[in-house]
Amino acid sequence: MRQLLTAILLVLAGAPSALAQNCGAGTLGTSRVQSIAPGEMVGSFHYASPPFAPKEIALTFDDGPNPKSTERILDTLKRECIRATFFVVGRRAKQAPELLRRIAAEGHTIGTHTWSHRDLKKVSPEVGKDDIEQTIDFVRTTTGRTQDARLFRYPNLSQTPEMNRLLAEGGQIVMSTDISPKDWKGDPPAETLERLKRLVKNRGRGIVMLHDAQAHTADFLPDFLAFLKAEGYRIVALEAAVNTPREGP
Ligand SMILES: [Zn+2]
Repeated sequence: MRQLLTAILLVLAGAPSALAQNCGAGTLGTSRVQSIAPGEMVGSFHYASPPFAPKEIALTFDDGPNPKSTERILDTLKRECIRATFFVVGRRAKQAPELLRRIAAEGHTIGTHTWSHRDLKKVSPEVGKDDIEQTIDFVRTTTGRTQDARLFRYPNLSQTPEMNRLLAEGGQIVMSTDISPKDWKGDPPAETLERLKRLVKNRGRGIVMLHDAQAHTADFLPDFLAFLKAEGYRIVALEAAVNTPREGP
């Protein structure tokens, strides 16, 4: 019996997941979806760690869309059949709505990152709330998907308890991070990549925070994905759990 069970588990472990079925041979692929309940706050820099198994990695990209680099990043993700999460800046999405629609069409999760990357610690909660709602409305109107803009990341991860409360009331998921290679610093791509690989090896799992507005992030992303593949990491897509209407009174 135990042998049979082991055999079944081995078959399951080796079988392509439903998500990866349409991926080409040898691609990294997306191994599973992690759905997150509205109002949750995730990412060990500030909140709870995501419920990931060892070697599970989620990719997130902030500050775009930027035509110069986001397109290259989308091409790389498509080649490896990976679903990521993009925390877009409203003002930039308005300048490149076709790119926002491409992110949606290629199956990525879209979260928001304020209208103009403002530090929400420096404005009143009312101003912050209006800013976030304007960005959410723009994203949903542009993509036509109501499932978009349910995740939020603070610019500079600069959070306040009052904004956290308002975001939770609005059913938003607040996303911090587990692994940040500081790719916004503008170091040479090879240097940032080495730092990122070290962080991934040390932590072993979690949400990686990158920036699709940075050209050098587009430069090193193919090598980073090759590293994940060679070392046996698996990609997890993040999604907001969809509210199901309650039955009965
Ligand atoms: Zn940012």
